[in-house]
Amino acid sequence: MTERWLSNPRFCCPVCNVWMADNIASRRKHEQGNKHKFAVQDMMRKKREQKFQLDREDRELKRELKNIEMAAAAAQVNGETKKV
Ligand SMILES: [Zn+2]
Repeated sequence: MTERWLSNPRFCCPVCNVWMADNIASRRKHEQGNKHKFAVQDMMRKKREQKFQLDREDRELKRELKNIEMAAAAAQVNGETKKV
């Protein structure tokens, strides 16, 4: 049974998660199909959105830190002026 399975290698498309016969013709046929093309586009779009989301979170965090720093600096200045 194992020998038979090995003699018929299968290839799993990492994008579509679909199994097919592992030969150039089958792979090419799958890669040129609309389903695969849409899946690739969808994957790329999701990656872009993910990166965009991460960039935005990073910017917001930096802005927040800057606000905290400025608030701390302002508080320090106010505190010093009150003492004097
Ligand atoms: Zn595919």
